[in-house]
Amino acid sequence: MVDNEFRAFGRGARGDKVRVVHGRLAALGLVSDEPATSGSLPVYDESVETAVRYFQQSRGLTVDGIVGAETFRALEESRWRLGDRVLFYSPGRLMTGDDVNELQRRLLELGFDCGKPDGVFGADTAAALRDFQRNTGLQVDGTCGPRTFKAFDRLARTVVGGQAHAMRESARLYRNGHQHAGSVVVVDPGHGPADPGIAVDGLTEAEVAWDIAARIEGRLAAIGVQAYLSRGRHGDPDDATRSGFANKADADVFVSIHVDGHANPAASGVATYYFGSPVTGQHSALGKQFAELVLREVVARTNLVNCHTHPMTWDLLRGTRMPAIRVEAGYLTNPGDRERIRTAEFRDAVAEAVCAAVQRLFLPPDHDAPTGTLRIPAELRAR
Ligand SMILES: [Zn+2]
Repeated sequence: MVDNEFRAFGRGARGDKVRVVHGRLAALGLVSDEPATSGSLPVYDESVETAVRYFQQSRGLTVDGIVGAETFRALEESRWRLGDRVLFYSPGRLMTGDDVNELQRRLLELGFDCGKPDGVFGADTAAALRDFQRNTGLQVDGTCGPRTFKAFDRLARTVVGGQAHAMRESARLYRNGHQHAGSVVVVDPGHGPADPGIAVDGLTEAEVAWDIAARIEGRLAAIGVQAYLSRGRHGDPDDATRSGFANKADADVFVSIHVDGHANPAASGVATYYFGSPVTGQHSALGKQFAELVLREVVARTNLVNCHTHPMTWDLLRGTRMPAIRVEAGYLTNPGDRERIRTAEFRDAVAEAVCAAVQRLFLPPDHDAPTGTLRIPAELRAR
């Protein structure tokens, strides 16, 4: 759930909204120049659906062939190239787009810290841009106009890959001297009563996620980590509220708990997701590291099938300023996974896995206890 006002549409839809989507897809070279029509109205036909799926896949969005709020916004953002328009910080309504992403990429490559390259022109990007302008003798106005574009083009880009960003993320995480005690973790139980997610056999994703999240919270508190849940048992905040909560709490790490579902009951296993773009390869380095840690700890402790770690650009991962991941701990639609998910042992194992991964994330890089061996002392366990 993203934007309550936006009504998703897909195959069979017709009218102006289809014309807009078709236009964006055509600009990306994904469909022919003119949409198919019925009467005189453009139609969302198979070719549009295929193109939307391709677009979603390449952008790290959920691939369903339907234009919901997230996909629509990504399509809107895809049309901007750096230099097409003047970019500036507008607090009331932040500018977003692929051009902002490109600006952030260039700032990071040159060593100016604009935070996560998320395609949103926020205060951090403005500050980094001002820094850049100061360093290159430009007028310091935090606005990316023709002069500043030119300055970027003049500068040979010698550093590639956003390493500076990764290093600053680590620096922030290790500010307490490699200790997890005193750090802040926000645990996000996916869904809620109004949008319970996958539901099979009387089990709902919202309830399972809440229960696992509460177990994680207790365990983290026991080892001195400040843990907060992003919603109460009966709460149902939207994604922006969840990520906003983590930002306000100044969390060091954010972990969202879900279980998966699929039309094919054979689909099973655990996967983790972190913020990243399959297009540019840019991603949150610590988010990826954390996602990999959680995945391997869950696999080691539960024997769920390993469905790997993937970059995604979901609002939840994009809107959070700290390393953020989403865990899909098994498939409710798979009979074997479902029987495990029902049990307290499984939920405890997933909770332990997340806690062990948090502990590892705060350990110095050279410290590496074998996977599955980090344990929270029994006397410290909350339950
Ligand atoms: Zn879910």
